[in-house]
Amino acid sequence: MGRTAGEKVRVVSGAKPTGKLHIGNYFGAVLNWVRLQQEYDCYFFIADYHALTEEWDPDELRRDTLDMVLDLLACGVDPEKAVLFVQSHVPEHTELCWVFNNLAGFGDLLRMTQFKERREAAEQAQEFVSVGLFDYPVLQAADILIYHGAKVPVGEDQLQHLELTRRIARRFNQKFGEYFPEPEAILSEAPRLMSPADPERKMSKSYGEKHVIHLMEPEDSIYQKIKTAVTDVGPQPDRGMSPGVKNLFTLLRLTAPPDVYDRLLQEYNGRTLKYVTLKEAVFEHLMRTLEPIRQRRRALTAHDAREALRLGAQKARAVASKTVQEVKRRIGVGAEALEALSA
Ligand code: ATP
Ligand code: MG
Repeated sequence: MGRTAGEKVRVVSGAKPTGKLHIGNYFGAVLNWVRLQQEYDCYFFIADYHALTEEWDPDELRRDTLDMVLDLLACGVDPEKAVLFVQSHVPEHTELCWVFNNLAGFGDLLRMTQFKERREAAEQAQEFVSVGLFDYPVLQAADILIYHGAKVPVGEDQLQHLELTRRIARRFNQKFGEYFPEPEAILSEAPRLMSPADPERKMSKSYGEKHVIHLMEPEDSIYQKIKTAVTDVGPQPDRGMSPGVKNLFTLLRLTAPPDVYDRLLQEYNGRTLKYVTLKEAVFEHLMRTLEPIRQRRRALTAHDAREALRLGAQKARAVASKTVQEVKRRIGVGAEALEALSA
């Protein structure tokens, strides 16, 4: 059951409420969501079940989920154009995940770099490693395929997970007949923003405060993080631009007019650029870019978020329940599977 003529291509993507939305999420994915909703049939969700894969506090999770909806609305996600919802409000995702668990290879999951990294970090800190952390790419496959998502606007860190989604789709189609698309990523101009404090690692909510710049963070705190951002760590003959300086130039390219970017890059190449000048420029243009989002966010209330989510859950469930029904029919489970049989 592919797409019929006249139907728009489905786009699906999500963000985990493991903290507040940051500029890596924004430039890496959400900015594309806002653009794509004009043209495609979009499903965007807050992945609260994914947030359970590492330590969580229920009150914080509730707060972060609501804040993330509000941040997304402020970024320009429009609940009239895109279906915006919270993953746990559509229980069919986890139902499909169980089916997919039986089509996903154990060895494939063991190879997921994100799992390997997080497992190692958790074990070093003598923290618990859950089955949920291991299984999370399978739930992600369900999140996408349940809406027949064909395009997935994400950051570079998600490419491996998306490859797994395609494998699961392929295995399902081979066993039970053509049904799911094999989704492709849409990468942004900044598919991997790095941490200002450790530019060898990506900016990530779960790495801690100093590694991220939030969209709604107080201005002086953003200033401090950019001012103290790591640039060159000692002399690096012939290694070219260091990861920290590269990250600052990426931010400048995303936020400043091209002539400002070109001028500073020329100064860098001519070895006359002072990093303090680069940092001041990044701060100024980043704040200017974020200001309209921050203003809109201040005007939004919890009521706005709840209204958007009510509408979103309704629309998402209508599609998701159809998919799960059809999957159950094909694989031989559910009440309907028995109806056609005689004694
Ligand atoms: P966590 O640390 O909990 O995994 P995160 O900061 O990685 O959080 P996610 O919610 O996992 O954020 O990701 C939301 C979207 O943002 C995904 O599409 C992801 O690929 C993208 N993304 C996350 N971090 C970056 C980054 N540093 N640069 C570009 N895109 C990013
Ligand atoms: Mg992540």
